[in-house]
Amino acid sequence: MALEKFLFFFIQRRIKRMRKRIQKNDIAFLKKEITKITPKTTDYLLRFNIINGLKHAAKNSPYYRSLLQPILKELSFKNCKTIFRKIPFTTQEMVKEHPEQFLAVPREKIAALDFTYGSTGHRKVIYNSPWDLTAIINSYVLGFINCGLTEKEVVQIVYSFGIWGVANNILHATLKLGFLALPTGNYLSFQEQKEFIEKFGTTAILGTPSYIYNLAKEITLTPESKKKIKVIMMGGEGLPKHRRKVIEESLGGEIFLNYGLNELGGGIGSECKEHAGYHIFPNFLFEIVNPQTGEPVPDGEFGELVITTLKREAMPLIRYRTGDITRVLPEPCACGLPLPRIDYLKGRVDDRIVIGSAEKYYPSHFDEVLDPLEEVKDYWIEVTEEDGRDTLNVYILTNNGSGELEEKVIQKLLTIKSLKIDIEQTKTVNTPNIVFVSKAPPSAKRRRLVDKRKKGR
Ligand SMILES: [Zn+2]
Repeated sequence: MALEKFLFFFIQRRIKRMRKRIQKNDIAFLKKEITKITPKTTDYLLRFNIINGLKHAAKNSPYYRSLLQPILKELSFKNCKTIFRKIPFTTQEMVKEHPEQFLAVPREKIAALDFTYGSTGHRKVIYNSPWDLTAIINSYVLGFINCGLTEKEVVQIVYSFGIWGVANNILHATLKLGFLALPTGNYLSFQEQKEFIEKFGTTAILGTPSYIYNLAKEITLTPESKKKIKVIMMGGEGLPKHRRKVIEESLGGEIFLNYGLNELGGGIGSECKEHAGYHIFPNFLFEIVNPQTGEPVPDGEFGELVITTLKREAMPLIRYRTGDITRVLPEPCACGLPLPRIDYLKGRVDDRIVIGSAEKYYPSHFDEVLDPLEEVKDYWIEVTEEDGRDTLNVYILTNNGSGELEEKVIQKLLTIKSLKIDIEQTKTVNTPNIVFVSKAPPSAKRRRLVDKRKKGR
């Protein structure tokens, strides 16, 4: 017990020192600190954060108060990582329906409200205290440092400014580091974005992968401007391999992909220089579970990502089911950073659709085959049922709809082996129905794969 107290004191002192330096923007110190982290320190920090995080939620959050009381009695530095699994999951529905039940600070302590993107039409309300906001902004500051942005940078933010707080928080982080910020948002034409890049000498671009991908396809930068771009930081969605190549070739710079969820306070993990999955920040505890049973899956196997916020003050979420499918990457990363890693997302639990003879598909399956087609600007697929067989209605956003492109799209789809077998041999799937459109539907985060069959499957 005495040892535990000493450890707590020691870690607390270290965190306080770190915070002071972050507030002072002492970049050199932070860079040194990042390289000094060892697996042992991360483990201590994690345990320390689990205990403090659970205590805070149990004391202040109406939802967790009674739920956590029995666990708290047994909780110790030694058992905190295992006993944790006894706590029931928190689902997205609970947070959506009763956000105030998760509020763990008095209302007057709320500094900002944030909202999820609302891709299904119903936004979640997210509460942030002043400390939460500082933590979110600092996580971006650390992200910038991690990908090599430490000099006088010109940062162009092409995220949507508005009800979704990500763009504003990134803007604050850039101002904190003294960068020149160009908050051009995603409302300007691609040509205007290009003018900003060239006129002000942009060195970093931040935005969603789909927006930056389209920007990369639509503009051609002068070689000088391309050379100036050092970093492209993206988040909010995944990035198929092919798109990464197109963006880097067109805009220059090195891509760093982030993974985050607004309800958990923005950034949860990010890519390092190795570009091999996401390193998870120490403010979170993650688990990978079987989406059906909720049981943990062995390391390396795909399952649903479950996250616990350990440092959130206004709205702590414990064992929150993200709905995202990924896996642990158990091998140490070549970059040397001892933070655990997860793989790029395979999709979302609710994006997974069974087509034909029981094969499961994620949107990423179709990204891989359709993205390389130059003429295809975007696409989405609706699965319907005709005469007892599944039909893929493939909507293609393009300016060049032709019989030739239709044939190309079908051939590409047939490179998905299971789909080819189901169309040609098991006859459970009809030949895909290709529909060319010149305008995408308005929803910014439209789902790519939609099940329109009566019962779904
Ligand atoms: Zn790494």
